Amino acid sequence: MVDKKWVYLFNELEQAEAYVGGEWDKVRGLLGGKGANLAEMVRIQLPVPPFFTVTTEACNAYTASGKFPEGLWEQELEAMAKIEEATGKKFGDPSNPLLVSCRSGAKFSMPGMMDTVLNIGLNDETVEGMAKLTDNPRFAYDSYRRLIQMFGSVVLGLPDETFEDPLEAYKEKKGYKADTDLTTEDLKELVAIFKKAVRDEKGFDFPQDPKEQLKLATQAVFNSWMGKRAIDYRRAEGIPDDLGTAVNIVTMVFGNMGWTSGTGVAFTRNPATGENKMYGDYLLNAQGEDVVAGIRNTEPIAKLAEDMPEAYQQFVDITEKLEKHYRDMQDVEFTIENGRLWMLQTRNGKRTANAAIKIAVDMVKEGLITKEEALMRVTPKQVDALLHPQFDEKDKKAAHKDGRFIASGVNASPGAAVGQVYFDADTAERMAKEEKQDVIMVRPFTKPDDVHGMLAAKGILTSEGGATSHAAVVARQFGVPCVVGASKVRINLESRQMVVDGKVIKEGEWISVDGTTGEVYLGKMNLTVPNLEEQTDLMTLLEWSDEVSRLQVWANADYPQDARRARSYGAKGIGLCRTEHMFFEPERLPIVQRMILATTPEERKAALDKLLPYQRADFAGLFEAMDGLPVIIRLIDPPLHEFMPDEEKLFEEIVTARALGKTEGLEEKEALLAGIRALHESNPMMGLRGVRLSIYMPEIVEMQVRAIFEAAADCAKKGVTVKPEVMIPLTGTVNELKWIQPRLERIAKAVVEEKGVEFSYKFGTMIEIPRAAVTAGEIAKLAEFFSFGTNDLTQMTFGYSRDDAERNFLVKYIEEGILPQNPFQTLDREGVGRLMALAVEEGRKTRPELEVGICGEHGGDPDSIEFCHLVGNNYVSCSPFRVPVARLAAAQAAIKHKK
Ligand code: PEP
Ligand code: MG
Repeated sequence: MVDKKWVYLFNELEQAEAYVGGEWDKVRGLLGGKGANLAEMVRIQLPVPPFFTVTTEACNAYTASGKFPEGLWEQELEAMAKIEEATGKKFGDPSNPLLVSCRSGAKFSMPGMMDTVLNIGLNDETVEGMAKLTDNPRFAYDSYRRLIQMFGSVVLGLPDETFEDPLEAYKEKKGYKADTDLTTEDLKELVAIFKKAVRDEKGFDFPQDPKEQLKLATQAVFNSWMGKRAIDYRRAEGIPDDLGTAVNIVTMVFGNMGWTSGTGVAFTRNPATGENKMYGDYLLNAQGEDVVAGIRNTEPIAKLAEDMPEAYQQFVDITEKLEKHYRDMQDVEFTIENGRLWMLQTRNGKRTANAAIKIAVDMVKEGLITKEEALMRVTPKQVDALLHPQFDEKDKKAAHKDGRFIASGVNASPGAAVGQVYFDADTAERMAKEEKQDVIMVRPFTKPDDVHGMLAAKGILTSEGGATSHAAVVARQFGVPCVVGASKVRINLESRQMVVDGKVIKEGEWISVDGTTGEVYLGKMNLTVPNLEEQTDLMTLLEWSDEVSRLQVWANADYPQDARRARSYGAKGIGLCRTEHMFFEPERLPIVQRMILATTPEERKAALDKLLPYQRADFAGLFEAMDGLPVIIRLIDPPLHEFMPDEEKLFEEIVTARALGKTEGLEEKEALLAGIRALHESNPMMGLRGVRLSIYMPEIVEMQVRAIFEAAADCAKKGVTVKPEVMIPLTGTVNELKWIQPRLERIAKAVVEEKGVEFSYKFGTMIEIPRAAVTAGEIAKLAEFFSFGTNDLTQMTFGYSRDDAERNFLVKYIEEGILPQNPFQTLDREGVGRLMALAVEEGRKTRPELEVGICGEHGGDPDSIEFCHLVGNNYVSCSPFRVPVARLAAAQAAIKHKK
């Protein structure tokens, strides 16, 4: 193993490539991102100070054995000799000293890693040499004291105070305010003080031998890879431990050698807006640290054109070349030493969501990248960020610092909201509508009769429930930011306040909720609100998405206005209209209740006849909004008790009325209570709902089907192209379909004939019960389409209650690694996913043209969308506000799995 190459010189990139087999990703793996890019800049003939890179393999060997692998140190020294040759300077030579920096550089940039050590090579002798050579003793001694300080803290692990305390004390004694007040003589004294501090703390002297400095610094970088900060960062970012870090030893160039020197950082495009204009700062007569530390005010990069026109022009040429070369926006560091420009780093620059989209689209237009590359450069999260208000990151940091962050829950519906707290739907609605307040509605959980308050609210917070709870589903559908299951929040509806960790928040007080992250803050945070009409680049990107996607994106929408929004966001159909939501409207609910409580078929029919025109109008609105596109309407699904008043409350009313002898209306109330009690089930989610309810009480769905087809026929007559698809929920056996579907089809046919129009339609079912998935081949004999209701399918497959699991054991399951993620948010591919794959396969054996979609909450989750692409869905359906995100995710899935 002696001839193993551990060190690569600046001009040995080809050797590194040959060693890893040519792939750039592997070169980065071997030399780290910084080392690989520095070498690449050398290859394209940009001015980079001579350097060498110690490989990540050396780091791994060191981590494994606790010592330098054989040959490493010798190779470092040889490389050093080559650098001496290239620079004409000598490491440790007082008459012409070579100084180097030592920088860690892993494959992925890691802010938790070791900082840089600058000025390695300075000692009591070379500092004198530097002073003479530069004719600037102050500069030389300042560099030396910085070396001892950085070396002491980074390499020797001394706390910062070891140096900061004596420095402050010294300045105070002298009456200085800033470091720049220190004179050469002061700095000489400080060097002595710092050296003594090292000796006192470590029991040995600051190493005078430059080679020893180099060796210890290399070792410190290796050690930092397994340091706590780095490990924590890797855990958070999912970076594996076995990558190791490289170490870059780079010739020092000085931006602080006078007024023809300087240093700066720049982005080739504006990282905040994406504008194609260089963005950055520089300082004359300064070192990198000074720019970052903000001690002096930096100048905008364009001003360099006045200060140093030649260097500026060279810099502009270089950055253009770099951007073309990497085909991405670059983030660069440079230093000018006595008029000579040096590049110290380049990497793909971090950018805001806005900038990411603009840069991707612009670069396609400039011919720099392909549309597919552009699509892969934007994340679904970034698209989402552009569609919802957000809190300022700075504000959030400050809030965490000041203790205003009070709770977190499930990030149920993205976007940020600020408002005054109200604890019931009526008050929330009144405050919003009449008082024009911004309202956050806070409830333990929500029910269908809370919807008016939820719609009026800017944001919703619940202490119970999970990602598919009523609050979450409704909030997502209407685009209201929402956090659910914030279990730390204790709500007292009586005293109209909530308590979090002893902090009392009364009705009317301000809070801020972040539905994107699930965080809740006390008080008002600043909101940034994106303007959708101006998102032309996003629209372009999404059009390109549709060109490459195989999956279509449809939307879950109950009302025409949601359908219109979905369509404007690019939805190609309605994948789920939950018809029962319409039953909750104030003028309809009493009719629905009468219908449920009817004791004779005549009574029931009378109530249903009243509901029919309402439903017909609902559906007509949807067909018009979706002219030309398919609309899937689901027949009634939930258990009937959901439409009834709260049993406990009603009972209390009755008891009170009896006690007070108030008999008026009592009989009706008692009848209602008896009705509610008759509907009681121990396990309603697994009880009388879905298709079971349709079979038990077919009149409701018969009315619904009539309403759907009358509406469709009327619209068709007006010239609207209608494509209704009737969806039967919660099927478990094909016999259920055999019982109900022909009856409904007869109604459809009769209406179409009555009205004398023609249009195509489908009858299909949801796959929400494992048995349905397993027997999909049979089910497809009747069902003309499948739609995976993965909310219920997940509930039934795991046996976890979708309403309760997330507020108790599920969080612990995820924390303990028992589940990799919340299966109600991201589809469980191994379990639920296998059932889906089976259902698609079996279903299409029976009916090759079977249309397959998904309408559970997973339909808007990028990872789940990828899975839907893989199993061969035709479309995913999600809330209107998720449509753009889903379009990008569908495109990315197609690109990623292109054959
Ligand atoms: C589902 O179960 O995934 C579904 C879409 O139906 P719901 O959420 O209305 O039960
Ligand atoms: Mg369902």
